[in-house]
Amino acid sequence: MAFEGLTGRLQSVFSKLRGKGKVTEEDVNEALREVRLALLEADVNFKVVRDFINKVRERAIGQEVLKSFTPGMVVIDIVNKELTELMGGTHSKLARSTRPPTVIMMAGLQGAGKTTTSGKLARLLQKQNHKPLLVAADIYRPAAIKQLQILGEQIKVPVFSLGETNPVEIAAKAVEHAKENHLDYVIIDTAGRLHIDEELMDELKQIRDAVKPDEILLVVDAMTGQDAVNVAQSFNEQLELTGVVLTKLDGDTRGGAAISVKAVTGCPIKFAAMGEKIDALEPFHPERMASRILGMGDMLSLIEKAQASIDAEKAAELERKMRRAEFTLEDFQEQLEQIKKLGPLDQLLDMLPGIGKAKGLKDLKVDEKQMARTEAIIKSMTPEERRRPEIINASRRKRIAKGSGTTLQDVNRLLKQFEDMRKMMKQFSNMMSGSRGKALKK
Ligand code: GDP
Repeated sequence: MAFEGLTGRLQSVFSKLRGKGKVTEEDVNEALREVRLALLEADVNFKVVRDFINKVRERAIGQEVLKSFTPGMVVIDIVNKELTELMGGTHSKLARSTRPPTVIMMAGLQGAGKTTTSGKLARLLQKQNHKPLLVAADIYRPAAIKQLQILGEQIKVPVFSLGETNPVEIAAKAVEHAKENHLDYVIIDTAGRLHIDEELMDELKQIRDAVKPDEILLVVDAMTGQDAVNVAQSFNEQLELTGVVLTKLDGDTRGGAAISVKAVTGCPIKFAAMGEKIDALEPFHPERMASRILGMGDMLSLIEKAQASIDAEKAAELERKMRRAEFTLEDFQEQLEQIKKLGPLDQLLDMLPGIGKAKGLKDLKVDEKQMARTEAIIKSMTPEERRRPEIINASRRKRIAKGSGTTLQDVNRLLKQFEDMRKMMKQFSNMMSGSRGKALKK
């Protein structure tokens, strides 16, 4: 998981400090030496690390830390604030032109995730009730046009393509097309190369000059660490980027790119991509990323995600049923659906504070296969069986196992689990009504 090494090291530095009632200047220096090493190991640019440590030291030693009753906490707070600042301070929003369409030019090296990210961005905008247009201007990689068209079909966003003609012309005509069709965002997927070369930059400059984009977003692969930062710096010198999108933050990245891009290039990170799926793109919030890196969790993103995907009415209905112990297998399936909408479970766990540290939970592998199996089993039942599982006898069990492609044991296990859960709910609701009754009698 991303940042795991860095988070672990920082937490051990802080826990040493936290254990102390009083902290000396030497303790702070010792802790900062370790923070410095942890950052360097996470592939953060060394100049960025030096400046960062100096800032933290200045604030820590000059300030209340040495006098504080909770010196460890004060140091963590300072590191958290400085880390947030380093990554840009506050969330940098996507531009929105007062004269639509807003034109976004996507740039990046091959394989960074440019085409995928273009699709994800279109999806994100569409969810905010915008009408995006995707533009296939990467004419050198033949599969890129097709890839974009498939993505467009999947999310029902139009894709503008003129085949393998001149990309500058494609971009210009696409903007015209968007105007005529009242589409308010144009996302241009430009060509990438394996390395930065003059030809590529020239082409990008020509597209830029032809369509005057409101945003030039560079897509970089976070897994490549400092290389990502160097790429960003070169592109920025040539093109004057308005922002960076970091991809593959779901992978094993050590974190260096996320931490240094803004400090080195001056360009804010606007989005972070955390998976191959079309919904795996999030606006980048420096303060939340800092909390995540420090292992303090990212409750805000989690809550936002939940709010966006969970149907409040259904949740209330479910709660009511649970309280009355009327919960059926149909409800159980409904609940699974809601959980699925939130995205990969291990990513959700990552957002919870302290998970990185809690050993038991860290080893907990969320078994999505098991979830899929459970779902298949419930889907193979008749509505009557879902409402009244007690009617599921041996022959029905066999039929369900066959229909869902699982084994009889799988079906038995699920029914047993469900029965246990129902019993627990009943006990719980009896307890609740019992105590309420007592309270009333008083
Ligand atoms: P392009 O050459 O820059 O257009 O790159 P693509 O969009 O074709 O992406 C290259 C590969 O990276 C594809 O296999 C994508 O599925 C994958 N990819 C893109 N973004 C992410 C991400 O955030 N996480 C992961 N794990 N894979 C990604």
